[in-house]
Amino acid sequence: MKWLDTLRQKPGDDNQERGFIRIPEDKDDSLKAGESPTKQEVIDSACYYTCTRMCYGVKDQAGGCCMIGDRDFIIGPISDTARFIEDLSKKLGEKIKFEDVFIEYDEGHKMFPDKSCWQNPKNFPAMRVLPDESRGFPCQMLSLDSKCMVHSIKPEVCNTYLCDYLKGVVGYLEDKL
Ligand code: SF4
Ligand code: SF4
Repeated sequence: MKWLDTLRQKPGDDNQERGFIRIPEDKDDSLKAGESPTKQEVIDSACYYTCTRMCYGVKDQAGGCCMIGDRDFIIGPISDTARFIEDLSKKLGEKIKFEDVFIEYDEGHKMFPDKSCWQNPKNFPAMRVLPDESRGFPCQMLSLDSKCMVHSIKPEVCNTYLCDYLKGVVGYLEDKL
């Protein structure tokens, strides 16, 4: 797809970001030397570290939820499809179609017949993934070096998703801090 090539070649902030899900959006300038971070800041940092350096508990792995891999997993449902298409069209300066970036149930359930979450209509629309098994069927917005090429406008689910492993990390910190 031409627009996808444009996205891959487009210089900009998004190309500098990792393809993980949990990024603290705000860089907090309020901390002064010797001042302790807040509980939320510690949790956000732990999420950042986990998703970029210890994804799902695996050292040096990042962005596992930007690909399907061999798990029963789907990147969906996407709640803000219209907003995302509008922002992506603006970013690329061309009109992006729904089917360019999302998969609906009629198509998706045939792609992974052995994965139960791809058989549930409630999990759609989902992010379109590349048919590249060697890369674990990645979201097509994930660059070859595991960066999200649409970080600043990515769908809401990408900002809020916590896998079981990360839920455990966050739960532990919530409890102990
Ligand atoms: S949410 Fe889980 S699977 Fe996704 S990047 Fe973070 S640790 Fe990895
Ligand atoms: S848009 Fe794709 S690459 Fe970016 S965070 Fe979401 S799933 Fe990952």
